[in-house]
Amino acid sequence: MATPPGLLVDTRGRPLRDLRISVTDRCNFRCSYCMPKETFGQDYPYLAHSALLTFEEITRLARQFVLQGVQKLRLTGGEPLLRKNIETLITQLSALRTPGGKALDLTLTTNGSLLQRKAQLLKAAGLQRVTVSLDGLDDAVFRSMNDVDFPVADVLAGLQAACDAGLGPIKINMVVKRGTNDQEILPMARHFRGSGMVLRFIEYMDVGATNGWRMNEVLPSAEVVRRIHSEMPLVPLEASAPGETAERWGYADGNGRHDVAAGEIGVISSVTQAFCGTCNRARLSTEGQLFLCLFASRGYDLKTLLRNTASDDQLASALAYIWQARNDRYSELRSLQPQDSAESSARRVEMSYIGG
Ligand code: SF4
Repeated sequence: MATPPGLLVDTRGRPLRDLRISVTDRCNFRCSYCMPKETFGQDYPYLAHSALLTFEEITRLARQFVLQGVQKLRLTGGEPLLRKNIETLITQLSALRTPGGKALDLTLTTNGSLLQRKAQLLKAAGLQRVTVSLDGLDDAVFRSMNDVDFPVADVLAGLQAACDAGLGPIKINMVVKRGTNDQEILPMARHFRGSGMVLRFIEYMDVGATNGWRMNEVLPSAEVVRRIHSEMPLVPLEASAPGETAERWGYADGNGRHDVAAGEIGVISSVTQAFCGTCNRARLSTEGQLFLCLFASRGYDLKTLLRNTASDDQLASALAYIWQARNDRYSELRSLQPQDSAESSARRVEMSYIGG
């Protein structure tokens, strides 16, 4: 099959713009909504190093994705900073250019535990910005979400190091679980208001098949906005890019206009306000499986293609063939079904395997 043009769209007209690359299935945290300790214990069958894509294989695949329209690469995991010499991969990826010669938006999502040590190296290797997961400022609440004994102060120090290294604009992701950490919404908003960092609140999702998700533990984003607005008035802001997952809200000044210096927050509402209609994201697992949705149950094996000496043209055709047939819209479908019953039996892929 001829290599198709770069403007690839799926069955719903959604272009392929954003590739999330998981570089490890391991993590040093055990967040209950992603890698609950009961499942991901010492005996869990983590991937052997030999099963992982090499940096050269990741870069070769990324190059084909870029030719098909990808403009943003996000490195994820597990915890990506646990992957040895990740700076080498970042250097390789940062050299890629779009068909029009533009640099890619190269970012990384981390739990921040290693950021203080790595920030300068990541920047020097070509990383542009980071997103840091932080589910609270209170150590006890933080621990109740990530199930490890790691101080919030060290994540904040990592954020400062990232800021000092110029890895911005920095975004902070807080997963909100009703009854566990929602009391931290206002303290987090107060802390990051005016900091130049963008705090986003993520609705607790039924990702994977092990986090015991229940709808009554979801705090709708509308409630998050209401709580913050009651103390620090907010005004709605335009999306900053097509397919953006976060709904933006700016802190208002005394005249009800956006106070840019005070900054903004975001809410990511996969459960109560599905955004599948503009979803332009693909996910590559640590061992080369391509997933077309965060809630998918199966992936497409690109590693075998790679290791069976497929040509670049054959890789490009395979990507096009897969994406063009895509019709994923899990979150839309979930909202059509009775609560707590959405495909609960399906063995959805684990988020720690394909990245958030
Ligand atoms: S549920 Fe799937 S298709 Fe919908 S926005 Fe999320 S990843 Fe995209």
